[in-house]
Amino acid sequence: MAENQSNANKPKKLPLMGLRVFDSHIHPGWEKKGIENRPGYLRLWLAREGVTSATQAALRAALGDPNPFKPITKPEEIPEFSVESWIALMDEAGVEKALLMGMDTISDPPHNWRWHCPVEYIKEEFLDKYPDRFVAVAGINVKASHEEKMASMEKSKQLGFKGVKIHTPTAGYPNDRERCYDVYEKCLELNMHVEIHTGVEEIPGTRAKYQDPVYIDDVAVDFPDLKILQLHCGNMNNPRIAIWNCIRHKNVYTDITVPHPLLMHFKYYNNVEHIKMLEAVVPDKVFFGSDAPLIYSIYKTAVEYVKMLPISMDFRKKLLWDNAYNFYCGEWRSEKTK
Ligand SMILES: [Zn+2]
Repeated sequence: MAENQSNANKPKKLPLMGLRVFDSHIHPGWEKKGIENRPGYLRLWLAREGVTSATQAALRAALGDPNPFKPITKPEEIPEFSVESWIALMDEAGVEKALLMGMDTISDPPHNWRWHCPVEYIKEEFLDKYPDRFVAVAGINVKASHEEKMASMEKSKQLGFKGVKIHTPTAGYPNDRERCYDVYEKCLELNMHVEIHTGVEEIPGTRAKYQDPVYIDDVAVDFPDLKILQLHCGNMNNPRIAIWNCIRHKNVYTDITVPHPLLMHFKYYNNVEHIKMLEAVVPDKVFFGSDAPLIYSIYKTAVEYVKMLPISMDFRKKLLWDNAYNFYCGEWRSEKTK
């Protein structure tokens, strides 16, 4: 009791450099509970041909698995990983809020690789339990019928989702009129935004051509009032056009999410020169994101690395908090666009 009281009286430690952090790109779905009901999420855990990947072993070690190199062959063997693990991770790294990336996509035959994290799961497990810590976007399968797409968008809006996400490497070009334009029209009607993947992907059935941010230019031309978040800023694909999209179109924003922070030493993975150019040309439209949980074991280091980048303090603040906060929680959402 006395100890609890003294802890309660302790001033809360400020995050590194006093900077608030909004992680605009984390992936829920890999948690242990009910993982069999979320297609595509067991792939992180189950050993392929009896081999455990370095990423998996590091994640398991960080979660306290005493034997992280022993191959996992069934869901029961997955270490405890839940929304509480996420909160502990965010607290440790000084991350106040995070955007949960919903998924709903399938690659073409013969792969038919499905990746789906249902909106109901995100709502019950994350948004309802920690409403101050999370916001979310819903994955939209653009290969579904018009009726199905509209119904899932209506549902996600009702459940409090801020926007929708399209996974181009498996879904196709974002400027595909038949598959995508009804989703964009509905976004305008519901006052939601769209997030479009422009990074690299390796899951079976991926087509690299669909990841090129040049196709976002078409969408921005045809929907000047639709807010578009370009995920990964075209890294390893076409980072120059990704920057140009943000300069040219007032409605295109970008994150700087990379698969691993060490890649930020390299030219095609949002390195310092890339970040400095974004600072110079579009300082109010760039968000920090981590792609966790893949980097779970070094999450705090990744956040601190970005805090240490040689950019101005003003831009650091915008990159780590202000821009994402204004985008996801700002007043524009209650204004009528149509
Ligand atoms: Zn991602």
